Amino acid sequence: MSRSYRIAYIVGLQHCGSTLLDLLLNAHSEAVSVGELFELHEYAHELKPKTEQTRFGSSCTCGADSIWECAFWQAINDQVERRSGLTLRELDLRAQDPVRFADHNRLFFDSLADVTGAKLIIDSSKRFHRLAGLLKYTDLPVTPIHLLRDPKGQIYSLVKRGKASVLRPAAYYRQTTLKTLRLLRDVESIRLRYENLVADPEPNLNEVMLSLGLDYQRSQLNWAEAERHNLAGNRMRRTSSSAITVKDEWREKLGLSRQAMITMLTLPATYATRHY
Ligand SMILES: [Zn+2]
Repeated sequence: MSRSYRIAYIVGLQHCGSTLLDLLLNAHSEAVSVGELFELHEYAHELKPKTEQTRFGSSCTCGADSIWECAFWQAINDQVERRSGLTLRELDLRAQDPVRFADHNRLFFDSLADVTGAKLIIDSSKRFHRLAGLLKYTDLPVTPIHLLRDPKGQIYSLVKRGKASVLRPAAYYRQTTLKTLRLLRDVESIRLRYENLVADPEPNLNEVMLSLGLDYQRSQLNWAEAERHNLAGNRMRRTSSSAITVKDEWREKLGLSRQAMITMLTLPATYATRHY
């Protein structure tokens, strides 16, 4: 079945800048983001989402106390129910069974496209396994965006609150980045560096939009003014300012020995992203 929409799936590590990219894409007039969709179950059951700050509970970015108080999510729920008899509470987007996984994800995206008429749907779940499942088990038109951040910045964001060792995060960075590159080797996908996006949003976004089959709109830089109902992500999604700030405290605070350690341990991954 050919579809009238495309799904941009942001794949990357925690703290790779996915919330910013998600918001920039969502601000296009023909796009809509659902955020970190793998957490829909938590939001639908009003449980504490894994990646959300406690004080926000399972509220929607628009300010509604839950997705059940939000007209956008309510409309999607009604459409899913009309098509299948299931509600968002029963939808299992993380199903282990491949057939169920494909059916439920297809149902969700088709219903969302029906309701919004969007040409581009953004799923910023980031998780490798969800992307692998979407590519392997479904016929959905998914374009992965591999969002890469300098390992020193990414790992600093992860460990900054303590004196935690950088060994494990560095190994994880290396393994996951290499695994993602392998998965995407034969898939049409986009590779984007967080540092480039932040330093020069306009040309980078322009290129991404072109690869997604849409024209870049200048209003995308005013992302905070766009309607937002994306799930999870960092606190940036709730701000009212569209300012893009460079997060590079790691340059001063990470220390040279930890920087050297990270550089060494992630070398195979950073080399591969430059050469393949
Ligand atoms: Zn909402």
